[in-house]
Amino acid sequence: MVDLVVSEVGPRDGLQNIDYILPTQDKCRWIEALAAAGLREIEVGSCVSPKAVPQMADTPEVAAFARRLNTEIAILIPNLKGLKRALTANPQKISIPFSVSETHSLKNLNRTHAQMLDGVEEICAYLRTLPADERPEFEGGLSTAFGCTLEGPVPEDRVVTLAEQLMAAGCDGVGLADTTGYANPAQVRRLIRRVKAAVGEQNLSSVHLHNTRGQGLANALAALEEGITTLDSSMAGLGGCPFAPGASGNIVTEDLVFMLEAMGLNTGIDYDGLIRARELLQKLLPKAVELYGFTPAAGLPKGLCIRGDSQGDSLYVASPG
Ligand code: ZN
Repeated sequence: MVDLVVSEVGPRDGLQNIDYILPTQDKCRWIEALAAAGLREIEVGSCVSPKAVPQMADTPEVAAFARRLNTEIAILIPNLKGLKRALTANPQKISIPFSVSETHSLKNLNRTHAQMLDGVEEICAYLRTLPADERPEFEGGLSTAFGCTLEGPVPEDRVVTLAEQLMAAGCDGVGLADTTGYANPAQVRRLIRRVKAAVGEQNLSSVHLHNTRGQGLANALAALEEGITTLDSSMAGLGGCPFAPGASGNIVTEDLVFMLEAMGLNTGIDYDGLIRARELLQKLLPKAVELYGFTPAAGLPKGLCIRGDSQGDSLYVASPG
């Protein structure tokens, strides 16, 4: 049993934000290395228009490969059409990005909140027709929940209302995403409390944080302390941010795993395996793509061993040899 699920979103959030299409074979090799390192959940891609996001055109193939590995797979979809493509790989989890900022929603998916909610209902109705063993868990991901580059501050009341509406439309749960890297730890705590109070403790279990302004790990800790059990992160903070040159993308998986394990929490992840996956990624990507992460640069503190088999109670176990 892991104390906390680190959900690796690099193959989706990372790769869709870099100006290079990683060949299918290479994606599969990287995802295989991630699963071998002990990552229990991997967002392997998105089933969106290949014209809009050519980096994700091969998601069904990549997902079908990843489904055979020892990990759960998640796929992001924008609509029913995307769901039907995603289902060919029989993923365990599906999520839809629902932007709390309506301006962002119009720009990103060309849909108003009302149109988005209709789409979510349609997806839920379709999912209900599937046999239980083919029905993935469906999460409504509230993006721009902590602020929007187009609208600025986002009212918390609106986040809470949309979370309630997503649950009423039939989602299995909701997630909160700091798409823009605007969040601070006090805000993270407050919003998680408010949304949990509105939709029920068990219906908000994941957050998706970016490290655009260096607040990622502080926000992750705040989320952890509010009972969040799944944290999204991406290897090497891949993806960057088109609105903040030089800034990393998602919180860095390697740094997050170090923080959690050093605190005595079990992630099930083997740190050496993580570094092997990172080295492979570095080889597969063009040199111009920057890889982030403090822990890979500095190494683990002497005496700390993260092997993926800790029980969560052994701090700084001496490594053999
Ligand atoms: Zn993101």
